[in-house]
Amino acid sequence: MAPKQTNAPNTTMLLGVPDGAISAADDTDPYITKLGGLPVWLDNDKTPPSDYCKCRVCGEWMYLLCQSYIPLPDSVYHRVIYIWACNQRSCMRKEGSFSVVRSHMVDEGYLRAQQQKEEQKKKREEQKKATSGFGTPQGFQLGDLWGGNKSFGSSSTGATGFGMTTKTSTTIKATETLAERLGKLQIDKEEPTPPAAKATEPPVITSDLPSFPSEYLYITPEDTERTTGMEIDMSRYQEFLNLETAADDDEEGGGTWANEQYEKDQLPRGVDKQFKKFMDRVACEPSQCIRYEWDGSPLFYQLHDGNHAGKCDACGAPRVYEMQLMPNVLSILPTAEYAAQQQKQEPARTLESMNVGMEFGTVLVYVCKNDCHPGDTHDTTFVKESALVQFELD
Ligand SMILES: [Zn+2]
Ligand SMILES: [Zn+2]
Repeated sequence: MAPKQTNAPNTTMLLGVPDGAISAADDTDPYITKLGGLPVWLDNDKTPPSDYCKCRVCGEWMYLLCQSYIPLPDSVYHRVIYIWACNQRSCMRKEGSFSVVRSHMVDEGYLRAQQQKEEQKKKREEQKKATSGFGTPQGFQLGDLWGGNKSFGSSSTGATGFGMTTKTSTTIKATETLAERLGKLQIDKEEPTPPAAKATEPPVITSDLPSFPSEYLYITPEDTERTTGMEIDMSRYQEFLNLETAADDDEEGGGTWANEQYEKDQLPRGVDKQFKKFMDRVACEPSQCIRYEWDGSPLFYQLHDGNHAGKCDACGAPRVYEMQLMPNVLSILPTAEYAAQQQKQEPARTLESMNVGMEFGTVLVYVCKNDCHPGDTHDTTFVKESALVQFELD
């Protein structure tokens, strides 16, 4: 890592930057954020249906691009986001060649603590009732204090990765008690079977999956005041930078990133302007591989219209932006090299075109705003989420 700057970060955006290779022997921790490698599941005995890890275009296994441990504040669940992609160039730009899976496993310690709180609250309320019968309610107002208490936020697992998420979840209201949430789960059960439970595919056998070497990601707040010396290999950016030079750049003053409303205020003046924004922002930390901000502002690679986030397949809630993969992922993971090797092994299958592997400008991840958990609290769950992939223009 480069020496830390003294400037305070001026956004709530977090960045993941490369932080060294993970040996296969060490790559067993679900509570980290990494690129590549095999997926490490929250529960080794519970893996998702195999079609969650297969390309819907060619039917082959996809490669894990990113695994990120991101528990949400006030949630009783451990939470990991897995992002996958097919490494066939011919599958790119087609629906189904990227996939996002969100996994939950209950944090037993946290759950117990919450349940104890619930019981204490109930007791207090009963006492309050009994007391108010005698017309002396004073002394029990303190019971209201518990609702805002977040002291149980620390996990017993020694979690790292995105555990430093700074923004409080807007989806889980402080006033909503665990009992209420569990109550909702019961209601959910009476509704039609959620898609997660409908899967008939056998669970994936992790060792069957192909994988890239894996790389730790270090999480750091974005500092848009920062200018860098471009310490890393920028060869893959060169064509982008050339494009940028050609673009009209006299109307951007710079330094106003945090306040810009990309979607709402952007006039359709062409993709160059959006692309320049993308590259200017990346220049603050060229090695960034992921950007993370729950319900935050996506950094689009090109102008886009409409809402691509959609609704959660499992509960119907709207999805919100959570994170995105940046082009530097493609210089860290040997996608082209692996695709070429595969082509040598199976020349007949990919004769129609040179397979140079996957490509993307950015992969925007949208997730269920409710962070829903279909099924029993104690089940480890896998819910498919949405990826909006933006590419270089042809
Ligand atoms: Zn494919
Ligand atoms: Zn949902």
